[in-house]
Amino acid sequence: MRLGIDLGGTKTEGLVLTPDGAERARMRVATPFDDYTAIIRMIAQLVERLEGESGSDRIHEIGIGMPGSLSPRSGLVRNSNSTCLNGHDIHADLTEATGRQIRLANDANCFALSEASDGAGLDARCVFGVILGTGVGGGLVFDGTVIEGRNLIGGEWGHNPLPGPEAMDGPLPVCYCGRAGCIEAYLSGPGLVNDHRQHTNEHCETAEIVAAAADGQVPAAATMARYEERLARALASVMNLVDPDVIVLGGGLSNIGRLYENVPALLAGPVFSDVIDTRIVPAKHGDSSGVRGAAWLWPQMQDG
Ligand SMILES: [Zn+2]
Repeated sequence: MRLGIDLGGTKTEGLVLTPDGAERARMRVATPFDDYTAIIRMIAQLVERLEGESGSDRIHEIGIGMPGSLSPRSGLVRNSNSTCLNGHDIHADLTEATGRQIRLANDANCFALSEASDGAGLDARCVFGVILGTGVGGGLVFDGTVIEGRNLIGGEWGHNPLPGPEAMDGPLPVCYCGRAGCIEAYLSGPGLVNDHRQHTNEHCETAEIVAAAADGQVPAAATMARYEERLARALASVMNLVDPDVIVLGGGLSNIGRLYENVPALLAGPVFSDVIDTRIVPAKHGDSSGVRGAAWLWPQMQDG
């Protein structure tokens, strides 16, 4: 059995897979807000509950996908938009709290690996996976291998500046990372909500904005149009660099159906090619791709 955990900003999902990849147990819980100790305790409890529900023997090795990464220098969490994780030795703390061996990887890398392995990017050589959720992350998989990079920041596209800021993009929104105008600050769920508020003086949640746009309400439709145009610009910068075969979208905002029609139509301007047949598709495993990728961390690394 394999056990994977996807630690997200608002929810945490756990999964037990049989050796042939079938699901034996699955649970989803709310992530404690801004409380590192509570998060560690929650993960330890989730592991116990998943094991109990799956009826398996003790699972000694656990894979965990998380926002951010471990610094190659200190081993401590950095770059996490769940900022309470930053600066902690999460590997040591989870090893102690769970009494098991832990492997950690960036959540977007887990997502991209899952979709490249048996998801929407199956059979593609180069897959760029994008999480559009509480935060924005990217993961690049080439020939089945995650490109982690020299400094373990491969795919951290969410903290590039949004390309070519235009008048409608200002003033640049401040990002949790300390910079302003990051892709994440525009394309995350909170980024969308913030942009809508700036242009309308109204606070609406993402689902309300999407519904209002579908209903033909002009301010919400304009917010969605800005979002799509920015997503096209941001993806074009990846396409001009690595030109992936498939771009797979995950995270809560990937459920917005209109993105798959409208964003490809906006690529012709910023992408430096006369032909653009890159597929932009939703994740096959939906919200569960991150947790599936986490569950595969152990066997993959042992095989590799
Ligand atoms: Zn940032």
